[in-house]
Amino acid sequence: MNPSSIPDVLVIGGGNAALCAALMAREAGASVLLLEAAPRQWRGGNSSHTRNLRCMHDAPQDVLVDAYPEEEYWQDLLKVTGGITNEKLARLVIRASSQCRDWMRRHGVHFQPPLSGALHVARTNAFFMGGGKALVNAYFRSAENLGVKIRYEAPVSRLELKDGQFVAAWVGDERIEARACVLAAGGFESNREWLRQAWGQNERGEWPADNFLIRGTRFNMGNLLKFMIEAGADAIGDPTQAHMVAIDARAPLYDGGICTRIDCVSLGIVVNENAQRFYDEGEDFWPKRYAIWGRLVAQQPSQIAYSIIDAKSVGRFMPPVFPGVRANTLEDLAAQLGLDAGAFVKTVSDYNAACQAGTFDHTTLDDCHTNGVSPAKTHWARPIDTAPFYGYALRPGVTFTYLGLKVDEHAAVHFGGQPSANLFVAGEMMAGNVLGKGYTAGVGMAIGTAFGRIAGNRAAMAAKKKQGEYRAAA
Ligand SMILES: Cc1cc2nc3c(=O)[nH]c(=O)nc-3n(C[C@H](O)[C@H](O)[C@H](O)COP(=O)(O)OP(=O)(O)OC[C@H]3O[C@@H](n4cnc5c(N)ncnc54)[C@H](O)[C@@H]3O)c2cc1C
Repeated sequence: MNPSSIPDVLVIGGGNAALCAALMAREAGASVLLLEAAPRQWRGGNSSHTRNLRCMHDAPQDVLVDAYPEEEYWQDLLKVTGGITNEKLARLVIRASSQCRDWMRRHGVHFQPPLSGALHVARTNAFFMGGGKALVNAYFRSAENLGVKIRYEAPVSRLELKDGQFVAAWVGDERIEARACVLAAGGFESNREWLRQAWGQNERGEWPADNFLIRGTRFNMGNLLKFMIEAGADAIGDPTQAHMVAIDARAPLYDGGICTRIDCVSLGIVVNENAQRFYDEGEDFWPKRYAIWGRLVAQQPSQIAYSIIDAKSVGRFMPPVFPGVRANTLEDLAAQLGLDAGAFVKTVSDYNAACQAGTFDHTTLDDCHTNGVSPAKTHWARPIDTAPFYGYALRPGVTFTYLGLKVDEHAAVHFGGQPSANLFVAGEMMAGNVLGKGYTAGVGMAIGTAFGRIAGNRAAMAAKKKQGEYRAAA
């Protein structure tokens, strides 16, 4: 290949992390080729489903109210990850989140104050006007205007590496060289076979992952992640750890997005297919708990559960896209949901009898709790006694997986502890460095934006160095 036709930087992926990398590399003067596996109409990966970015700020800033200082952000991350995080990299993400919005605006992203039903994150999270789809469209437009070359339906199947350095990528039979490369091809959440292997078989002989739904793109198959791990890149994270939400069981297998989330769990009870409760539905505010319910449902028989509310809860949560099953009696509700009516009525009666009188307030950790029923419901426990009754079948919905490649603060891929000179990684493919487990809303985009920008910049620098090497050799 003629060195002048070789792009400086090859970016693999077409979501937020890839686009941030492509834009930064181009701004640094590099020629950039971006390869997106998806066709144009499906471009943007999981990023196109997002709504917001968690941002550090020391004082009110445009759409963000009050303050959300570095230490509070860090403590929030520390808590949700149970300490399985890299403090240096996490703080890098946090600080970057306070400075990136002007750059994002320059590339066409607009922000708006949150609407109601946005998980109470007005203080901490900046919302994208038009959502993630508008964000990726703005970035693609800006990238094209700046001269980034973009190819769709270009899934990279493998790389050519030499001594820990990137040489070329393969799309089908086509070999594409570049002086440096950024991997931003997402996690492996769309790969049901890999999820199946990772989750294995449970004690009931079931393969739980067979019943998972994928909330986002179908294109994050993890083939490059697998390739890199097999090629000896240092990996981080547990393959079963992922952001997993309980979503409407009627959601499509892929790309159901945020509207399939069921947000009434803390207002009622949740039972499994045996009509038994299995977890405290009122443990904490829903924004702090919604991401544990995917795993909880995954642990139930047949990986299904049912969120049950009565008429008192209607209007108190964001209505899901599909209406709930509605009935005037508990027996009829059980019949429509396919539950044993006797067992279901007993579970509800036991729960109702255990509810202590209190002052219901869904905006505080109120004093409405149960006594003498297991598991307890510690807040917002009110009897389910007012028809009509509603039920929503729930399935585990995988948002994104946390197994990834180990990085340093320069986003370099590592082999045997040594950073690669020209291969970088960003977004879900390395989010596990910061998110060992757990999640707090808006951190996915914060990680992708911070590391995408670093990776793009570093790749441009690495390419310039290589170009110098080419010239010296000529
Ligand atoms: C429904 C939903 C809502 C979410 N809401 C939020 C939110 O509000 N805030 C937040 O911070 N996070 C949110 N997230 C998480 C967020 O989407 C991710 O953390 C973030 O988008 C990851 O960005 P990424 O660029 O790494 O991956 P993606 O955006 O998924 O991009 C990966 C890209 O790589 C491409 N690709 C995959 N394999 C290959 C290959 N072999 N060759 C070439 N291209 C390939 C894909 O087509 C895709 O374009 C949400 C996720 C979902 C599913």
